[in-house]
Amino acid sequence: MKYLIVANWKCNPPTLKEAEKLFSLIREGVKNIKNAEVIVCPPFIYIARIQNTGYKIQDTRYKIRIGAQDCFWENPPTGGGAFTGEISPAMLKNLAVKYAIIGHSERRKYQKETDEMVNKKLKAALKAGLTPILCVGSKKRGEKGNQEMKVQLESALTGIKRAELEKIVFTYEPVWAISTTKRSIVATPENTKGEAIFIRKILTKLFDKTIAQKARVIYGGSVDNTNIRDFIEKAQMDGVLIGAASLRPDDFIAAVKKVDASIKFSINSE
Ligand code: PEP
Repeated sequence: MKYLIVANWKCNPPTLKEAEKLFSLIREGVKNIKNAEVIVCPPFIYIARIQNTGYKIQDTRYKIRIGAQDCFWENPPTGGGAFTGEISPAMLKNLAVKYAIIGHSERRKYQKETDEMVNKKLKAALKAGLTPILCVGSKKRGEKGNQEMKVQLESALTGIKRAELEKIVFTYEPVWAISTTKRSIVATPENTKGEAIFIRKILTKLFDKTIAQKARVIYGGSVDNTNIRDFIEKAQMDGVLIGAASLRPDDFIAAVKKVDASIKFSINSE
């Protein structure tokens, strides 16, 4: 299994021109990687342009793919419907988008997304054939935080079939570690490793140990090129989700290259 490095651009950059430039820099910078797959998640309005303007991202020699930062929970048979402002999973599929972030803490906070909505989005994304990058993570640290994350996970996975589980990328993303959170702190590799084990324990309880061990679990929160190896090698995560640093091409490319090189130290090789 290759490492997954997800770039979450959030509501950035402000212009299409800058988005195209950032994407080209990243694409060229990571073009020779072998052990990782880079998934860039730009704002919706930039996706079609990036997919269709000669970036050749359908070319499998480039280990770079496009993801969305969200998708709607309705997936009408026609692919659309009367849902003002929403983007259906079918629309994303139609643009050859492969991944969609679901349940990011900023959407839970600003768009008031509930666990129930996250569950519906997860189901719709799976049904449409997208790979959901499901974000869970608490505002609090310690035992209270674990309880919050347990509820998020159990709700998100309600009604999800065992066979669908291996399509989901689980992202442990504690709110207190996100770089833009006030007084944020970077999670330690020890803490992150423990939380990944906690997620697998919940999956074991909900499904079984085999599927829990197979699940892909990545980490998000203040990752950059200076600390990424800690999360891959010490915390043994299957990848990372990167916000702020994914807007700094040099930092991001350096981070990807470190992961690509760190495969030999890891147990996660194919
Ligand atoms: C995020 O919010 O998805 C994220 C990982 O942000 P950052 O890397 O800036 O902490």
